[in-house]
Amino acid sequence: MSNSYAALPLPAFVRWPMFPFEGDLRVRAFEAHQSEDRPRSGEPGGGPCESCIATDDEYAWVDDRWRVRAPKQRSGVPVQLFLETREHVDMDGISTDLAAEFGQLIVRLDRAIQAVGDIGRVHVNRWGDGSSHFHIGVDPVRRTGWLCRVSGLVVADLVLVGGGCEVAER
Ligand SMILES: [Zn+2]
Repeated sequence: MSNSYAALPLPAFVRWPMFPFEGDLRVRAFEAHQSEDRPRSGEPGGGPCESCIATDDEYAWVDDRWRVRAPKQRSGVPVQLFLETREHVDMDGISTDLAAEFGQLIVRLDRAIQAVGDIGRVHVNRWGDGSSHFHIGVDPVRRTGWLCRVSGLVVADLVLVGGGCEVAER
């Protein structure tokens, strides 16, 4: 089956200096449209929820409604944190009080990551397709090294850990 998407133009960011890949790129064929979102872990039809199984001592910080953890595996940046709710909830189900706490926690996490030192900007990202717990990633961007300046840190992280580039300088 031919990939008619391969002829589509690539987005401009693949030409940005911070984009970590080079060479010939093309658009993959899209999957067929689905009437429902793919089930997340903890939802019917999804896998088991690792967050519900995890105990508080697996987290860097907890309170009654939130937990903060680091990646289980080595990260390609000095520190990387994930903030998640204790309960299964999506962004559109968050109460006003929880939303207010969320805003304050983002700022606290930014400051905690900045305190590590040699940190550039801190990025906050949210997709929400994996876990039933509302969660965000809070990631630093180092000032040096073009690979470390990539906004799509998930991609950059895989590159850095896989290749060891600049990780040894931490
Ligand atoms: Zn859960």
